[in-house]
Amino acid sequence: MRAKALFVTSIAITALAAPQSAQARPFEDPRAGLIPAIDADTAFQAEPRDPACHAAVMASTGGALPKNPRTLAVRWTGYANFELAFNGQIVLLDAYFDRGSLHPSLGFKAADVKKTDAILIGHGHHDHMSDAASVGARTGATVVGAPVTTEKLATQAIDAKQVRTVTGRGGEVLQLGAFKVEPILGEHGDPPAALVGAFDTALKATTTPPTPEQIAEQATIRQRGTQDRRVRSEGTIAYLITLDNGFRIMYRDSGGRVTDFEKAAMQRVGRVDLGLIAVSAAYLNSATVEQALEHVRTYKPDVYMPAHHDAPFNNLWRATEPLFQAVKDDNPRIVTVSKGYREPTCFNTEHNISRSR
Ligand SMILES: [Zn+2]
Repeated sequence: MRAKALFVTSIAITALAAPQSAQARPFEDPRAGLIPAIDADTAFQAEPRDPACHAAVMASTGGALPKNPRTLAVRWTGYANFELAFNGQIVLLDAYFDRGSLHPSLGFKAADVKKTDAILIGHGHHDHMSDAASVGARTGATVVGAPVTTEKLATQAIDAKQVRTVTGRGGEVLQLGAFKVEPILGEHGDPPAALVGAFDTALKATTTPPTPEQIAEQATIRQRGTQDRRVRSEGTIAYLITLDNGFRIMYRDSGGRVTDFEKAAMQRVGRVDLGLIAVSAAYLNSATVEQALEHVRTYKPDVYMPAHHDAPFNNLWRATEPLFQAVKDDNPRIVTVSKGYREPTCFNTEHNISRSR
């Protein structure tokens, strides 16, 4: 370990001495500023630029996997979609890629996703699962979801043998290569109807209405998810993911209240390294902040990456800065990260903060 630490130091000095590399490393581990030894991109590699940590191309669409097997590359791809690339494997969290012309483009289509080992679906609304069946069928990935989600998958063109149903009520562990996945029953977030109604009215009054073609397009996409009422109470699954070296991730794709199942799981593991957590849909910062604080106080992530904060052209993105300020006021050590579609954030999982403390 001593020799490794010295090596890291020498690389860091070399990098500082070379001005072009100092300004050309935007995607290093976001905790690097807190712990100088952390830099997933250079710590273990003679080759300083790992495309997996710099290019805005997903590994699942033909981009590079991290060269170092201990590097985790995380990419947000709209709504609550993330790609995790680690140790030669790819795991997709949610699958909602072909969103239609009312949405900003993600820069790739569902049909471009050629490689993935697993798809974990947080819940079965179309904006979380609409491309899970097609991507799963093309890649042969294991697709995981709650009963109401996998019932929908059973009506779609994917082999039932690839599909795993989980309830999140405890005792379920899926070992997917280097990823240990524990499903935990969460709760869907539903903002007050009066609030949503008022904002919808204002948005309708100030934006261009969709064309009949766009309405038809949305209806087709919507059909690839479920609107079953069970999604809210028994169909929203949080996933606690533990990598083979102990690095922990909590993924939650809806901004609802924390459940007793989540509290119990977090009491057991204490904290996570990375939280990928959906923002509440409540528009007002006072409400979204309150929900985000409950999430981060429960999961205790070192690094907080929000999810589900983008929106169609005729709607409002959910502001992340007020959340970031509030969680930092609550815990000055937390690191907040929000990047553009497909931009990677790389973690040196060997140097997660808990070991370094
Ligand atoms: Zn939903």
